[in-house]
Amino acid sequence: MYSRFKALEGYGEEELEKIKGSKVAVVGLGATGSIIAEHLARHGVELVLIDRDYLEENDIYSSGIYGPESCEESIPKAVAAEKYLSSFTDTKSMVESLNSENIHRLEDVDLIMDGTDNLETRLLIDEFSRKEGIPWIYTAALAEKGYSMFFDKKCFNCIFETVKPGKIGTCQSNGIMREISTIAASYSSMDAIKYLSGKKLGEKLKIIPSGEELEVDSKDCAVCEEGKFEKLNSETDVKTVCGDGKYQIDREVSENGSERLKKLGDTVADNSYLTRVEIDGDSFTLFSSGRTIIEAKDKNHAEQKFSEILGN
Ligand SMILES: [Zn+2]
Repeated sequence: MYSRFKALEGYGEEELEKIKGSKVAVVGLGATGSIIAEHLARHGVELVLIDRDYLEENDIYSSGIYGPESCEESIPKAVAAEKYLSSFTDTKSMVESLNSENIHRLEDVDLIMDGTDNLETRLLIDEFSRKEGIPWIYTAALAEKGYSMFFDKKCFNCIFETVKPGKIGTCQSNGIMREISTIAASYSSMDAIKYLSGKKLGEKLKIIPSGEELEVDSKDCAVCEEGKFEKLNSETDVKTVCGDGKYQIDREVSENGSERLKKLGDTVADNSYLTRVEIDGDSFTLFSSGRTIIEAKDKNHAEQKFSEILGN
């Protein structure tokens, strides 16, 4: 099964055993994360698949592992990914938003792969990674450009001056050429395999597709020098999901919230994972785990609608 891999210079049975004995968390299973998860699964890496969102029509375009059926049925991405990848390796899915309360469940992984499109979650992963001594790999793709970087000693803040991640936009605002996300995800996966097999990796920011590798100077970085863990200690319960217009509210929904929603609007999905209802142009998705995602014109409007319809 792995004869092509073992024929590579520097890789043999020993490296393969190390890779197959590793456990990796993939956070975010969209355009980049789903590709990363597939690469690692085919190498036999044990996976923890984390995504808070459900499949939508645009995922048929963006991702390589979801079929039109799962997208039409609004299945959570983590569940659809687990279903597909469990034939290659051991997988566990978490249909949850990674936050300061549940990130400790990644304590036993060897590496964390970033497949998010979200600055807040990346900062949380970065802090957790430094605190626990677990390296992570950043992957980003936007329009026609991709980025990848292995983080071990350096921190995410170290690269801010180079890429300004908060300002480069999101996949929703700037669009994305699906091929670039595949290339960036493959690049990061290759680094993951190298690391898991015991090879040493440099901490440079790779620009894709030019192949340019930028040196990252951490000399004046306040974050890794001071060792502050702000995100791990924060408790914001309204988060932006993949650009503007989609908000996740981690707040308890009133007992009859789902009934109230259904009475007020049109039910577009109702399965064992979630219920989705559209009301006057806003879309409400209640997950069985208790989270809510509201698609609305802005954050305040989303929060207001939550209180009006779903609050206690
Ligand atoms: Zn730093």
